[in-house]
Amino acid sequence: MSRTSPKIVTLIRGDGIGPEVADAVLSILGAAGAPLEFEEEVVGRAAEESEGDPLPARVLEAIRRNGVALKGPVGTPIGKGFASVNVRLRQALALYANLRPVKTVPEVPSRFENVDLVVIRENTEDLYSGLEHTVVPGVVESIKVITEVASTNIALFAFEYARKHGRRRVTAIHKANIMKLSDGLFLDCFRRVAAGYPDIVADDQIVDAACMRLVMNPEKFDMLLLENLYGDIVSDLAAGLVGGLGLVPGANLGKDAAVFEAVHGTAPDIAGTGRANPTALLMSAVLMLRYLEQGDLADRIERALFATFADSIRTPDIGGTASTTEFARAVSDRLN
Ligand code: NAD
Repeated sequence: MSRTSPKIVTLIRGDGIGPEVADAVLSILGAAGAPLEFEEEVVGRAAEESEGDPLPARVLEAIRRNGVALKGPVGTPIGKGFASVNVRLRQALALYANLRPVKTVPEVPSRFENVDLVVIRENTEDLYSGLEHTVVPGVVESIKVITEVASTNIALFAFEYARKHGRRRVTAIHKANIMKLSDGLFLDCFRRVAAGYPDIVADDQIVDAACMRLVMNPEKFDMLLLENLYGDIVSDLAAGLVGGLGLVPGANLGKDAAVFEAVHGTAPDIAGTGRANPTALLMSAVLMLRYLEQGDLADRIERALFATFADSIRTPDIGGTASTTEFARAVSDRLN
């Protein structure tokens, strides 16, 4: 990225608290002088109403063209209505790796200290393949798809990440005792890939026991590698260890594109109240800046965020009283 021409990034503000946290993050990026230009796209219910498709082809083309998107959460109707835009986006753009660093944030009260986990979730298949049908009335099937190619690719991603970032262990989490074929294949691929990385410890745990161990001794884990559904659930569990969903960022990474978004959803219970914590989306933007090789700028923003917490300025989800905009202003004021 050259200093003269800003990098064009697709922006999806999303639903619920999405626009509130997106505006907060844009204000901080602006205050930091981030060399970014945002091109906004609309997806979800609004796009379905105006264009007949909650994920118009135009949006996919824009992200492919720009290569990078910053995205707020998008709501999915429960038990009816359109298929998840979030899942479609990841599948259509082959964003096969979902990276979710879950780390204790200095000065933020939480149940544990010194949590430092990296959750890697396979992002394109499993029960999220969207293959469901009614066999006869009263009997439905949802098809869990696990392939050798996707399982190998996500394991390779995890071990490469471990090597690059100096992590010591990758733990595959599965239920291969029950789903011997599907989770068995995922585990076999993990073990085959692990054999090529003798410098990194590779082990595995059954998902239910892993959840118990995570809530008792999270510091014993390093990197977690999971299929799509377990990855979704365990990410939220892990967020709870460090203070909640308001804090945990994420990246959906593919070979040709990357979409940066928080782990959290639209938070309908607090949408419109000005109470949303923009930290998770801000830290997603920090991941994006590192991806764009703007490491110094990413560090500067992170330092301003931690300085804000150190001054006890927090949103209500983590025990404070600051509104979303007050918090964003406090972070901007601490940029140096
Ligand atoms: P949620 O993540 O929206 O909310 C869970 C809880 O965490 C709520 O109590 C909420 O107030 C709190 N919370 C979440 N983010 C917060 C923040 N930034 N600051 C303060 N508190 C925060 O989960 P949900 O209620 O199960 O889902 C709501 C909607 O979001 C659903 O339609 C779901 O499909 C969608 N969703 C979208 C994404 C995505 O776009 N990637 C991810 C998850 C859920």
